[in-house]
Amino acid sequence: MPAITPTSPTPSLEMLTAQLTALRPRMDAVSLAIHACPELKFAEFHAQALLSGWLAEAGFSLLLPAGGLSTAFVATHTGSRPGPCVAVLAEYDALPGIGHGCGHNLIGAGAAAAAIAVARALPDHPGTVLLVGTPGEEMGGAGKVRLAAAGVFDDVDAAVMFHPGDHSLTGRPGLAAAHLRVAFTGLSAHAAVSPWRGRSALAGVQVFLTALDALRQFIPPTARVHGVVSDGGQAPNVVPAHAAVDLYVRDRTAVSARELVGRVRQAAAGAALATGTEVDVSETGPLYEERRNNTVLAERFATAVRALGVEIAPGDPDSPAGSSDIGNLSQLMPVIHPYIQVAETGTPGHSDAMREAAATPFAHDRTQVAAAGLARVVADLLTEPELLTAAREEFTGARQDPRQEPRRELSGAAQHGR
Ligand SMILES: [Zn+2]
Ligand SMILES: [Zn+2]
Repeated sequence: MPAITPTSPTPSLEMLTAQLTALRPRMDAVSLAIHACPELKFAEFHAQALLSGWLAEAGFSLLLPAGGLSTAFVATHTGSRPGPCVAVLAEYDALPGIGHGCGHNLIGAGAAAAAIAVARALPDHPGTVLLVGTPGEEMGGAGKVRLAAAGVFDDVDAAVMFHPGDHSLTGRPGLAAAHLRVAFTGLSAHAAVSPWRGRSALAGVQVFLTALDALRQFIPPTARVHGVVSDGGQAPNVVPAHAAVDLYVRDRTAVSARELVGRVRQAAAGAALATGTEVDVSETGPLYEERRNNTVLAERFATAVRALGVEIAPGDPDSPAGSSDIGNLSQLMPVIHPYIQVAETGTPGHSDAMREAAATPFAHDRTQVAAAGLARVVADLLTEPELLTAAREEFTGARQDPRQEPRRELSGAAQHGR
């Protein structure tokens, strides 16, 4: 590692970049090792070990596991005097059947590199740098929601992360999403000898899906209601006693998504009534809230990224990303979730093509740029009190950005992450 001594209260971008260049071989090795061994939500032990081991070697103290999740961890670098607490977020879970088709190997390794770069470039920084390992983002795992509920973010002033993609954006809206299982229970019978003795749970599913399609014209155009039949019965010659649909109900706000869940419940109840079955509608995980991007911090990230030669623009407010548990965190504190292009424009997320892209040298070049952007924001938050003040003003609504929805009042439950 080159000997670099900070000469100003906040390190220059060149100093942060020099640290990241020194960290690059390890960053690539950690990222590729995670990529080669994809782990599903809450089973990411290999990734957790790789990332936390690197941070411990770099002088961070470890809390592992953390927040009641066995694959979460918190790595802490405590400064020489009091100051803000800034968290860099590392995701590292993969998708069933596709592996790292969302590129979380890059998120995890890039986040760790960013946190270590700040600690090295600013060894006697004020405040605290945290690297929070947040497992289970995919498949409704809601890792961040669970960690927030366990108090992991109680003392955090701001949280930053980046996400790989097919273009570079300072932020984009994310939909609120409820994750439902609609399970019908009927009565089994021989499907040919005495079907009238049975009540088909699969018929309940069919009527329910038809009712959902009948609803579609009358729900907001911003809403998305989609699912799969996760249980369609067991055998053709048995009237199915059990059948189920796994469903996501999304819209621009948690309030609107909740309202739609009420209508979906009515459709399910109607289907059960029509088919002589019973239905149970349950939430398979916490609701993902809509995302608020802190534009003050996102602009600071963008300035660094542009200085390193990557063009980045604000996202289209009418073109939302999917949904993520970062949304819930963004309701609790100033958060950024920018995107960095690592794949050819048009490469779909959650695809085989994105998985291949997430292992290329180009993706790692871009991840280094993103890590520099995150390191820039973290270092500035620690050393420039006005930046945190401005970010907080936007968050509380004292400073209104035209691209942001006004902050809605949070219930006590929401404040604790739900
Ligand atoms: Zn992702
Ligand atoms: Zn994803």
